[in-house]
Amino acid sequence: MSALIKEIVIVGGGTAGWLTAGILAAEYKNNLALGMQITLVESPEVSTIGVGEGTWPSMRATLRKIGISEADLVTQCAASFKQGSKFVGWKTGLEGDAYHHPFTIPNGYLECNLVAAWQAQFSHLPFADVVSVQNYVSESGRSPKQFTTPEYAGAVNYGYHIDAGKFGELLQKHCTARLGVKHIVDHVTHVISAPNGEIAAVNTKEMGAVAGDLFIDCTGFSCLLLGQHFGIPFIDKNKYSINDSAIATQVPYAESSSPIASATVATAQSAGWTWDIGLSSRRGVGYVYSSAYISDEQAELELRAHIAKSAGVDVAEKLSARKFSIRVGHREQFWYKNCVAIGMAAGFIEPLEAPALALVELSANMIRDEFPLTVATMPLVAKRFNSVFQYRWERIVEFLKLHYVLTERRDTEYWRYMSSPDAMPEQLQQQLLLWAQRPPYFNDLIQVEEIFPSASYQYVLYGMGFKSNVSGVVKTSDNVNLGLEKIKDNFEKSRKYVSLLPSNRELIDHIFKYGMQKI
Ligand SMILES: Cc1cc2nc3c(=O)[nH]c(=O)nc-3n(C[C@H](O)[C@H](O)[C@H](O)COP(=O)(O)OP(=O)(O)OC[C@H]3O[C@@H](n4cnc5c(N)ncnc54)[C@H](O)[C@@H]3O)c2cc1C
Repeated sequence: MSALIKEIVIVGGGTAGWLTAGILAAEYKNNLALGMQITLVESPEVSTIGVGEGTWPSMRATLRKIGISEADLVTQCAASFKQGSKFVGWKTGLEGDAYHHPFTIPNGYLECNLVAAWQAQFSHLPFADVVSVQNYVSESGRSPKQFTTPEYAGAVNYGYHIDAGKFGELLQKHCTARLGVKHIVDHVTHVISAPNGEIAAVNTKEMGAVAGDLFIDCTGFSCLLLGQHFGIPFIDKNKYSINDSAIATQVPYAESSSPIASATVATAQSAGWTWDIGLSSRRGVGYVYSSAYISDEQAELELRAHIAKSAGVDVAEKLSARKFSIRVGHREQFWYKNCVAIGMAAGFIEPLEAPALALVELSANMIRDEFPLTVATMPLVAKRFNSVFQYRWERIVEFLKLHYVLTERRDTEYWRYMSSPDAMPEQLQQQLLLWAQRPPYFNDLIQVEEIFPSASYQYVLYGMGFKSNVSGVVKTSDNVNLGLEKIKDNFEKSRKYVSLLPSNRELIDHIFKYGMQKI
């Protein structure tokens, strides 16, 4: 191994591999002439997982930086604009039980905590409707942008719903044609170790050894390098997140002009929940469930019955379905010696709130920003990386669990278990005690780039009917008055936005015809 880190080898060509390649290559392409090389090896024998259709708003900055045009994303990946998640049936399971977690933070969030003002005068209305314009925009089928809004800009915050397979192809084409990434299609058979125990090369079936200085394991659930080769243990999180299976289908629209939903709809079911994601070409619908509480056959029947409500029995019965097993948890360390795992190789948890691709972006961004230029600095960067991502995984497990623990549903064994204190991480139990005493706000989370900001905790807590005492500092009259002003302003903005924004479908049709204005 050279004293300088020059050869980066990414093993795995799923979304994690190609996004990582793009993020690193976009930054280091000017160094390619100086000998920096990024190589991606992917197996022709092991297919990519082929799901993962919901992204976060962070994907806009990522793609822009990589140099992919947003119009290409929309037209080549059947992408549509996602404004958050809508949770149906999670609180009581009764008619009308729904709340939103929008991507846009409450109006004026940086100046005041709006919970006291909401409770003072508007608690008869859903929290998210009162503090954010986004629900009106999304529920009325509006898109987050106007026809003339430039690429990657928005009137409100947004991410995407994308066709995962096509997204991988777009990334691959861009990385190889524009960013100088070398692509090897070959199956890695084993690792060749250096005398010091680091990875010297990966051996491929046809082309032999591919040597490198830093190896990025993006091999999905198989976790070939970090798990199989180095034996880094897997930390099981099944106690808290028991959804270990999924079935995915693709549902056609009735007509090519059918409306496209602008939020991922997560509907509670008897032993898990279904996702419904509207792309421009079709919907992606699936059921994530716990095999301890329902059989695969029953789950599939329940999924088809759910789809039949919107698409009709005939359509629902004919759909082909794919089954997935999910190993819930993450690696004890993510970076060991000269190997770092990203994507499903690093860990996975049910796709509620869709944090997986955001974690890929955060991981690759951190490698890019803190890139160890020499062998000597690699352990320092590895240590920081491990502690940041261990922290992030804990927050993810807790935040996803928050969606379940406040439920009033007791209709199935599954919901009774999910709301029991036994199934709740200790830190979350303590946070709930604090948040009963006062609403969450900036002090609750300590990192600048938290995986879920405090506003997200507010949306889920109050969406689920949680009560916080606001008699402390957030009830000072200044804070309440400022909050009421922000709420009034939010109502006015909501009316304006809904009247000015085109529908999701209209905007996408317009982009197919005319493209988009570049920034
Ligand atoms: C049901 C479900 C729903 C999901 N929904 C979402 C969502 O809405 N949003 C979201 O962000 N994420 C979601 N995810 C997660 C998302 O799909 C993944 O995070 C994403 O696709 C990245 O996967 P990956 O690249 O890590 O792994 P994979 O796609 O599995 O790719 C692994 C790669 O490794 C290669 N490989 C394996 N073995 C070898 C070998 N020996 N030699 C060479 N190459 C090898 C394979 O060829 C492949 O290219 C979902 C996941 C599931 C299961």
